[in-house]
Amino acid sequence: MQNNLFNFVVSRTNHLFFKSLLKCYEKDARLVNFAVSRMINRQKMINLVLFGPPGSGKGTQAAFLIEKFGLIHISTGDLFRFEMSNDTLLGQEAKAYMSKGSLVPDSVTIGMLRNKVEKHTGAQGFIFDGFPRTIPQAEALDALLSSKNTEVTGLISLDVADEEIVKRILKRGETSGRPDDSNESTVRKRIDVYNNETAPVFGYYAEQDKSMRINGLGAIDEIAQRLSDAVQQLKEKV
Ligand code: AMP
Repeated sequence: MQNNLFNFVVSRTNHLFFKSLLKCYEKDARLVNFAVSRMINRQKMINLVLFGPPGSGKGTQAAFLIEKFGLIHISTGDLFRFEMSNDTLLGQEAKAYMSKGSLVPDSVTIGMLRNKVEKHTGAQGFIFDGFPRTIPQAEALDALLSSKNTEVTGLISLDVADEEIVKRILKRGETSGRPDDSNESTVRKRIDVYNNETAPVFGYYAEQDKSMRINGLGAIDEIAQRLSDAVQQLKEKV
């Protein structure tokens, strides 16, 4: 029995973690038993942060990943636009920030995201698209998932250069009807906000050894293949 447990723990964890676990065991066996039982009971969900600047193709690629991996897609931008189209209080508050290309305050965004996650008990996992966009949002996401005995599996960033982004978003604005897609100075503001406030989230998850980059340029199905390979790699870690 003990041997089986030992093999199981070794197969579910990495070498360094296991070494520190053994060290702790000498100090406090109860703590280690607790950690091991949390690990055994950990939900095998895939929780993916689809990352990248506005216009990098997150929404397009999320549609493909939902189908392939059976995940729930949560786009905070779509949620805000839904609230705006229904003219709710939340929508009115968000509109003031979105039309300027600024971020909606964390207090509003985190609460909305939490409500959405809570509605999907029993999900196999989530694709977070456009969230987290700040370090406090990333911390809130980690806390939320941890309370559900799961975690962010990985962050995949779609890399696209700024000038290509401006071209793509203005083109999208011709048909999307989104005011924040149609004005070049708002588009440039959104890119600045991404570089200053959102890009550090990549480093936050890199510290947990969870961040990956893929090239966001090319045909849609080529990028989908790169993403799918990246998700497959992450799945093997779960
Ligand atoms: P998106 O559709 O993801 O490009 O988002 C459009 C706009 O919605 C952004 O420019 C922000 O104003 C707002 N927004 C979306 N997601 C977030 C978020 N996680 N935090 C703050 N603001 C957000």
